[in-house]
Amino acid sequence: MWRAAKCTYLAAWEKELMEIRAISEGAYRHLIGIRPKYWTKSRFEFYPKCDALVNNMCESFNSAIVESREKPILTMLEDIRVYLMKRWAENRVLIEKYKDDILPRIKLKLQKEIDASRWWFPVAAGISKFEVIRGRDKFVVDLLKKECTCRKFQMTGLPCPHAVSAINCAKDDIRKYVSSCYTKAAYVACYTPMINPCNGHTMWERTTHPDVMPPPHRVPIGRPKKKRARGEGEEPQGPSTSRLGLQQKCSRCLKLGHNKRGCPLRRPNVSTCLVNIVLYITLFLMLFTSL
Ligand SMILES: [Zn+2]
Repeated sequence: MWRAAKCTYLAAWEKELMEIRAISEGAYRHLIGIRPKYWTKSRFEFYPKCDALVNNMCESFNSAIVESREKPILTMLEDIRVYLMKRWAENRVLIEKYKDDILPRIKLKLQKEIDASRWWFPVAAGISKFEVIRGRDKFVVDLLKKECTCRKFQMTGLPCPHAVSAINCAKDDIRKYVSSCYTKAAYVACYTPMINPCNGHTMWERTTHPDVMPPPHRVPIGRPKKKRARGEGEEPQGPSTSRLGLQQKCSRCLKLGHNKRGCPLRRPNVSTCLVNIVLYITLFLMLFTSL
């Protein structure tokens, strides 16, 4: 499934789906029932310049606000505002010290593409068009349009291994082909607007209307939930035994389907026995005296 999800072009995705079908018709039908644009890179659009398949970013945001989320709405929003204000100010200072034009994590990603490009052989077809070959695999790269038929170049805004191979063949600078959204200038532009500092609520402007009071406080039953509410069908981290299709094994009788608490061989404990004996004796005495 992950192999199919990671395919960046249609033909590769279809091939992987056929392999899934050969293993399990049910799995194939399940996957085909989900709109591909939601789970496979082969249908991702080019505008967002994002090929992320997982929602780890939401998890990071949730872990940052998990303490604040328990607070009343205004306090919670104030906490988030202060968190962002601090983060933006720190990032603004950090980027000032950064000397290169391309951002550090992007450089690491680009290096991976450069490393992978060594297996590809470029053949020039014209000034900017190349056929890039590896065995029976071939892709067409258009450097002028910044496109590759594997779609990764357009989707990520970073040259794919085929594009890197073509750029090297054209003796051009790879950095020219990195999308402008990954540059220091773009990062600076992102963090330039300042989140303004704010006075405490005692200094806020008072209105002529009565204060809005919080609703009566009710403590709901059970422990409050802290984890982010997951979407339908979303796997939790560390799936439970029942989700994995595994059955519990009893440590008393070693049979499947129950644990030692629900074991039919379980003996009642001593205190329960004593209570039962006292109860029976009392009942017997009551009956005896009434007769
Ligand atoms: Zn490519």
